[in-house]
Amino acid sequence: MFQKKLEKCYILVMDIKEKIDGLTEKLINYQKAYYVDGRPLVSDLEYDRLFDELARLEKANPSLVRPDSPTLRVGSDLSNDFPEIEHTIPVLSLDKAYSRDEVLSFIDKCIRKESSSLTFVAEEKIDGISMVLYYEEGILSRAVTRGNGLVGNDVTANIRTIKSIPLSLPEKIDLAVRGEVFLRKKDFEIINSREEDEDKKAANPRNLAAGTVRRQKSEEAARVPLDMFIYEGFWRDRGQTPKDHLHILRKLKDLGFKINSHMSFFAHDRKDAEAALAEAGLEGKAYAFAEMEDYIAFKTNERKNLEWEIDGLVFKINELETRERFGYTEHHPRWAVAYKFESPQAVSRLLGITVQVGRTGRITPVAELMPVSLGGSVIRRATLHNQEYIDSLELAVGDTVSIVKRGDVIPAVEDVIEKNGEGNTTYEIPLSCPSCGSPLEKDGAHMYCPNRGCPEQVKGLLSFFASRNQMDIETLGPKTIELFYEKGVLRRIEDIYGADYSSLVGMPGIGEKTIRQIVKSVEESKSRPFKVVLSSLGISEIGKKSAEILVSGGFDSIDKLKAADEDDLVRIPGIGERTAHIIVEAFADADLLRTLDSLASHGLHMSQADDGEDEVLEQTLQGTVWCVTGSFENFNPRSKALEEIERRGGRTVSSVTGKTTHLLAGSGGGSKRADAERLGVRIVDEREFLVLIGKAEEEKGGQLELF
Ligand code: NAD
Repeated sequence: MFQKKLEKCYILVMDIKEKIDGLTEKLINYQKAYYVDGRPLVSDLEYDRLFDELARLEKANPSLVRPDSPTLRVGSDLSNDFPEIEHTIPVLSLDKAYSRDEVLSFIDKCIRKESSSLTFVAEEKIDGISMVLYYEEGILSRAVTRGNGLVGNDVTANIRTIKSIPLSLPEKIDLAVRGEVFLRKKDFEIINSREEDEDKKAANPRNLAAGTVRRQKSEEAARVPLDMFIYEGFWRDRGQTPKDHLHILRKLKDLGFKINSHMSFFAHDRKDAEAALAEAGLEGKAYAFAEMEDYIAFKTNERKNLEWEIDGLVFKINELETRERFGYTEHHPRWAVAYKFESPQAVSRLLGITVQVGRTGRITPVAELMPVSLGGSVIRRATLHNQEYIDSLELAVGDTVSIVKRGDVIPAVEDVIEKNGEGNTTYEIPLSCPSCGSPLEKDGAHMYCPNRGCPEQVKGLLSFFASRNQMDIETLGPKTIELFYEKGVLRRIEDIYGADYSSLVGMPGIGEKTIRQIVKSVEESKSRPFKVVLSSLGISEIGKKSAEILVSGGFDSIDKLKAADEDDLVRIPGIGERTAHIIVEAFADADLLRTLDSLASHGLHMSQADDGEDEVLEQTLQGTVWCVTGSFENFNPRSKALEEIERRGGRTVSSVTGKTTHLLAGSGGGSKRADAERLGVRIVDEREFLVLIGKAEEEKGGQLELF
């Protein structure tokens, strides 16, 4: 009897151990994807749920806690690509509160524990990358990521490109500051819209900022307008530490750091809070404790209107002696708590799974969902990526599922809440292509249709070729292409230039005027520069960026590319062995060569020499709308600045409106600056503009070197 009980107990412990091990490994894996690769595998909500489950199990079974448990240390962003530096200050995470009640009870507990009258600072929890800046004798010596809290990666070269970070301080002090590196929402949208490869698009500003901080070339990091708010300071000479958090912020501001002005200060009485803020000379709002719930509601609502992403609010005790008494756990300070906003989540039913064939033949399963409203939009479909993803969820048609917005942007099927009652089992992607019936082939995690003549692939390729970011044939959208494909008029890229469009008049929605427009825009597209033609052919590995690299590496004509061998190509910085192999294979393909000959005979540019005299610049400002004000040292007359913007694909306008994305402000600019400030339009000065358009580089010590 006793033996049996013991056995049962043993089995139970083993079960729990297995569970703890499983959760620990899962979370470590998720941490790497999130912190190091900048590509989260699950939503924050799911991560936090698993983290809390592990913490609960560990609390009940302390002997089973693994030394590498994520609950014992801060999530590690360490990567092997950068040198490691030991931190000299505590670089921890924050304890979390998921409801207003939890925040109030934290405040309550702190107040009850301390007999003195405590005050609290509330700051926006910036959703960016945690960073520590070390200054020695007033000079920025190192910028180090949070790492595992003890050791971080040295990313100084990239962080120096952030303009708001002082490279030297007005005082020769040894100081470490903590803050958050972030990217404004507007800049994120502009940069992400330039990325053609859907797989390479970042899900949110945080991920793009994380990737930028870890770039190998700092001139690439410099092109992304990162910024940094500082929220903590640690003086080596502790005697120099200001008296409380408010005065630390004030001092940091005086030293030249950027402090987020959206901070709030809480005391028993609002008047006391106002007086303390005024005494410290800080912007910010004063509140009484009784107003805390309203404050959280207000900020939750205000969040969507902010220029940057925030994922919560941080409440910190203001008094430093109390902080010292409260101390730290291995994971977080006991004197602060982060209120995390809820991630939008909804429940829906999986009505079916459709299988899409992309222009490269990649097969993507897509969830067809019962329409459900989530975070301001109605969700009907969500990508299921590949079979592995479906298997990991054990997803079957008819299941009730939870939907989240990953990184608060992209809808994703997160979990199965209830299995279907129809007995459907885990969905399996068919073995043959839904478009042409060819047997599918596996490459990595994805399935591919190997048939280059597959109707869906061809239509995808034609649409890609004609799209706005490529040959920009305005009137040939995917629907028209589908129609012309079905009629047998467009079957290959070169058909776009050889088709007899007049024979199509009379087809549904196609009148003479439409045909005239199509012929005109097809004709116009013949003048697109060689680089654009090259990147529009749909050759895998030759997108806009690699076309640029190939051309500037000397392969500036189709003839040169045809003659290239792999050794020639790998000599170009930025072209790896795999890419070189794919390019050589592509240019040996008889089908592509036939297309190229035909395109050449229709007068498309087959070499950079065909482009004419004007150097065609990379369209780095595409999608941006600029207004220019004031006078400039390097752009005189001012129209020279307008020209630079337009040559890079930006639009210029004469007044600042809601649609303006940037104001280029020289000296003496008047009311336009005020308009831009009011509308939250990004203001760029001449110096920043020169770096942005690649005409100057920021040098050590803040000097600017013009090219
Ligand atoms: P956290 O990022 O939620 O909070 C701590 C961090 O907040 C600090 O390190 C600091 O960098 C930052 N912060 C921003 N503004 C601040 C301010 N004003 N004052 C102080 N700190 C401020 O915690 P964490 O430990 O870095 O990460 C855990 C969270 O990250 C999880 O709760 C989860 O939401 C997310 N996460 C998600 C995944 C995923 O796969 N989706 C994986 C790992 C972590």
